[in-house]
Parts: sequence; C-alpha cells; structure tokens
Amino acid sequence: MRGMAMARIGLVAHDDKKDDLCRWAEAHRDKLAQHELWGTGTTGSRIMAATGLSVHLLKSGPLGGDQQLGAMICEGRLDVLIFFIDPLSAQPHDVDVKALTRLATLYDVPCANNKSTADAVLAYL
Ligand code: PGA
Repeated sequence: MRGMAMARIGLVAHDDKKDDLCRWAEAHRDKLAQHELWGTGTTGSRIMAATGLSVHLLKSGPLGGDQQLGAMICEGRLDVLIFFIDPLSAQPHDVDVKALTRLATLYDVPCANNKSTADAVLAYL
C-alpha cells in the first residue's frame, strides 16, 4: 500500500463523530483529493459539503451502507477504511458495524477508528 498512487478510501462516521471526521477531512483535503473516496450516505454528503471533495456515495450506514463497504473489501475494491466509531452510543445497526470491522480485519485492510490512527494511515499512503 505504501506510496499507492491512488487508494480507494472508505469514509464512515457515526453521528456524534461526523463533525470530527469532517474536520479531519478538511485538514487533509489536499492529500485526500489525490485518492478515490467512498462514503456512507450521510457521512459522504457531509464531507463533500465541508471540503468540496468528491465522494462516491453509498447507502446510509443503517440502510446498508456499511455492508456495501464490506462487500467492496471482500471483492478487493477498497484499500483503506476510515471509520470513526462512537464508543459511547448504541448503534441500531451494530451488527453491520461489527461485520464491516471484521471484514477489514480479515482482509488486512488498514482500518482507522479514530483521528490519530487516521493520521497515521494517511501518512503511510
Ligand atoms: P451514515 O452512516 O454516514 O449514512 O450516517 C454511517 C453509519 O454507519 O452510521
């Protein structure tokens, strides 16, 4: 993955973490612009509005967007997952969240669940 010319990056944030992910994306706008971005519906829309970056929009997470990202991973169509999880709130689609992080682990896709790790993964790209 190191020095990958164009990585396919998945972007997801739970509701209480969407502001954090938008701020992170703004801070790394120029770097992210060099890659192909995929987001769950609400997260992706928020990032596009905040940064002007182009994000391919999937379904909203609770409506299947997490599963779409999981499918991309198992089909070899996603290189990196930036997934800002809210550890303090119950998620109605917790099973989908677990399935997505499980597939990222299984397929050895770099998966950042907080800002520090996201910084490190982006620096590595
Ligand atoms: P959303 O989905 O970006 O459509 O809100 C994220 C999630 O999985 O909660």
